[in-house]
Parts: sequence; C-alpha cells; structure tokens
Amino acid sequence: MARIKGSVCKLCRREGIKLFLKGQRCFSEKCAIQRRNYPPGVHTRPPRKTSEYCLQLREKQKTKRIYGVMEKQFRNLFTKAERQKGNTGENLLILLERRLDNVLLMLGLAQSRFHARQLINHGHVKVNRRRMSIPSYLVKPGDEIGISGKEKIRKVAEAAIELNKGQHVPEWLEARPNDLAGKVLNFPKRDDVPHPIKEQLIVELCSK
Ligand code: SF4
Repeated sequence: MARIKGSVCKLCRREGIKLFLKGQRCFSEKCAIQRRNYPPGVHTRPPRKTSEYCLQLREKQKTKRIYGVMEKQFRNLFTKAERQKGNTGENLLILLERRLDNVLLMLGLAQSRFHARQLINHGHVKVNRRRMSIPSYLVKPGDEIGISGKEKIRKVAEAAIELNKGQHVPEWLEARPNDLAGKVLNFPKRDDVPHPIKEQLIVELCSK
C-alpha cells in the first residue's frame, strides 16, 4: 500500500497551514510550522505571482495530504463524487470524511491519522463486529466501529482517548469511549468538514 513517506511536517510547511498530521504534537510548541513558517528546502524562494492553476493544484495537494490519500485513490474518489447527485466538490469531501481511518480519528480512538491507519491495517478495528483492514472503507449510517484484540492494543486505544479528551466529536458520529467504540449516526454534511478546503478549486482542476 502506498503511503506518504518522510517528514510530514514538511507537507504543512509546503502548504503554509497546519494539516494536523502528528496528533497532539500539532497542538504543542514543537509544531514545525510555528517555528519555521516557510516552505521547506535549502533555497527557499520569495513568493511568486500565483497562477490560477497553481492555486487549484495547491488546494488539491493540501486536501490529499490532510486525508493521507495518494493521487490514484483521490482520482477514484473524484470520479465517484462526479457520478453522485449534487455538488461534486461537496460529495468529494463527504466521501473523504467517511473513510474509516478518518472516522477512527474523529472518534478519538487514534492519536493521528497514521496511527489510525496502522490500527486498521493490523486488523485491530472491527466494523459491525467483523474485522476490517481497509482504511479507505467508507462508513455508512448504522455502522458500529470498535477496537478489538489484545489487552495491549486496548491500552493503546485508551491512551489515545486520554490524549484526545475534550476533542469535538462531529454530530454525525457517536463516541462511546468507555467501550472503545463508536457509531455512525448519519452521513456527514459539508458543514461537518473541519478543514479549510476550497473544493471548487479542486473540481475546476480535476474536471479539465
Ligand atoms: Fe503539521 Fe502537526 Fe508537524 Fe505542526 S506538528 S507541522 S501541524 S504535522
């Protein structure tokens, strides 16, 4: 499975905003973007005049990086969003929000998106009491999500819950931290997407 390698903080610096890829570290003073808020690289160039294409491309890259998806997966989701009724950009963001790794993070059961993917890939997550090892699985209303397995894994999830205490859980999800579980109540809406994404720019780019 392809995944983003190397320092993820560089991705935030490239996009010029916090993408929250490192769990609680992102909220601490150690956050790289707070100390070096300029693009990575030895010869950091002064800002150039940005073209429309550049804005569209940066918005797409930012979105991919927030949700940790690679180009091919992103394109497949875009095609799916196009085929659905309604606004393609909103459909795309809703599909990204419905990914199982994102849901695990939103429920506070993982410390970061990478951690969520690891739990899923290693078979420690159950959907409707059945093991689910696909991070891109799209949840639907009624799905019960839970952490399964050994005491060691449950302790890891408990530590994540402790770390994420006070985190806002979106209305379309129900968190049951004591059971290390949660439930999908509804499909998410555009307003439930917590990231500053201009989806229209992505649609303009991907529709060319
Ligand atoms: Fe981005 Fe988090 Fe690294 Fe800060 S700590 S630069 S928000 S990944």
